[in-house]
Amino acid sequence: MSHLQLFDSQTRQNQPVKPIEGDTLGFYCCGPTVYGPAHIGNFRTFVMQDVFRRVAESTGLKVRHVRNITDLDDKTIRQSQEQSMSLGDFTSGWTEKFHADAEALNLLQPHVEPSAVEHIPEQIEMIETLIEKGYAYATDEGSVYFRVDSFEDYGRLSRLKEREITTGTEIAKSGGSVSEREDSDEYERDSAADFVLWKSRKDEDGPNYWDSPWGAGRPGWHLECSAMCKKHLGDSFDIHSGGEDLLFPHHENEIAQSECCNGATFVHHWFHITHLMVDAKKMSKSLGNLYTLADLDEKGHSAEVVRYVLLSGSYRQQLNFTLDSLDAAGSALRKLRDFQEKLGGEVAPNAAASAEAFGPFQPVLDALCLDLNTADALGKLFSIVKTTQKQLDSLSDDELEATRRGFAHSLYAFGFSLAATDEPATDIPAEVQEMAEQRWQAKADKDWAKCDELRDQIKAAGWVVKDSKDGFELEPA
Ligand code: AMP
Ligand code: ZN
Repeated sequence: MSHLQLFDSQTRQNQPVKPIEGDTLGFYCCGPTVYGPAHIGNFRTFVMQDVFRRVAESTGLKVRHVRNITDLDDKTIRQSQEQSMSLGDFTSGWTEKFHADAEALNLLQPHVEPSAVEHIPEQIEMIETLIEKGYAYATDEGSVYFRVDSFEDYGRLSRLKEREITTGTEIAKSGGSVSEREDSDEYERDSAADFVLWKSRKDEDGPNYWDSPWGAGRPGWHLECSAMCKKHLGDSFDIHSGGEDLLFPHHENEIAQSECCNGATFVHHWFHITHLMVDAKKMSKSLGNLYTLADLDEKGHSAEVVRYVLLSGSYRQQLNFTLDSLDAAGSALRKLRDFQEKLGGEVAPNAAASAEAFGPFQPVLDALCLDLNTADALGKLFSIVKTTQKQLDSLSDDELEATRRGFAHSLYAFGFSLAATDEPATDIPAEVQEMAEQRWQAKADKDWAKCDELRDQIKAAGWVVKDSKDGFELEPA
């Protein structure tokens, strides 16, 4: 039986993954902000979280997976107002789009998918407790702030104090006291400020306000996850995850709110996914350098190809996205599909996995179990496929069955369905396709020299052309 180890951003060490209590791992993922289509950077995070769950399940762990929908924050309110739509209509459209993309990417559905708007009373209740315990204060205009100075451990996750000392910014200079307040849901600054728990009603929020003991208003963004974690996973749970940008201030603020309210360690293990980059910059809506699944589909790349690219690097390292990487992923998936066809048999890739079932593919699971190294695991998968392919004819029935099972369980862990696509040629680069067509014409013209020359050029581009009576086929070399 393999044991899963995962890097914990708080202790900055690999830690064994096991439930603190009982037999089920509580797993919370900060979900999408539904004010536009998610981009493939967002999906790097969601796909890695999905692989984490699949691998945990493959080692025999039970997982309770909660991923929220952020339908209430500065951005969803502003955009719905600009488009003269009710917040609910606006966010439900983008939630549906997210679900469709998640399904195309073969993400397992979380067991619970709570939304911020559905948890206003729970958020108000937490604020009341925080005020009672002296960790939060209301202002004259009816907003409530978390008093950062009141929580000694503030900054534990992001090691804020160390960073403050080295950067010499405000906190160190002022001996640790905090005088500023932060109203916005997202802020870039690298220093502690009292952050907002309840925002008093403003004209620009339109009809999006709720009654509270402090007057009409709405909760601040950071609080939603604390409230949804408490409700669906309890005061203390196993693993909390998000992209690396959420580590500070979002997760730091979640720890402060939850630990002060609940009086218990909030989370035992923090799992942060490093960013997907484009030209050395984070892929993000605000930089406008993003690709969505729809953009890539238009260029002929399936969601499974995108999933492959997102898994091609370890989650601990930045991954630079290029369109060329999609071609390489397409041909890699074709090799897996070919292997599956040659194996034949009936083992469904989505069958619930168990560690023993990996058989000859055990090195794949071992690589995934060592801090979810998807890059290494893919390397192992291909090397096993390559050697097995050569020996297929000499395998006994039992060996063939174990190979089929192990391959299917590996596919399950990566989340590849290898469903036959109806676009087999789309991953072939356009120039290779064109050369192959010219060669077919040269053949019809009996121009054998040109025919051979084009075959060589196609080969140099990494493809092999195979002729039949009625046409040609291109395969990766
Ligand atoms: P959002 O929809 O902005 O709330 O983000 C959803 C998830 O995507 C969060 O966990 C973010 O940290 C994550 N995320 C955002 N940009 C990237 C990126 N370029 N690479 C990886 N994860 C990202
Ligand atoms: Zn969150």
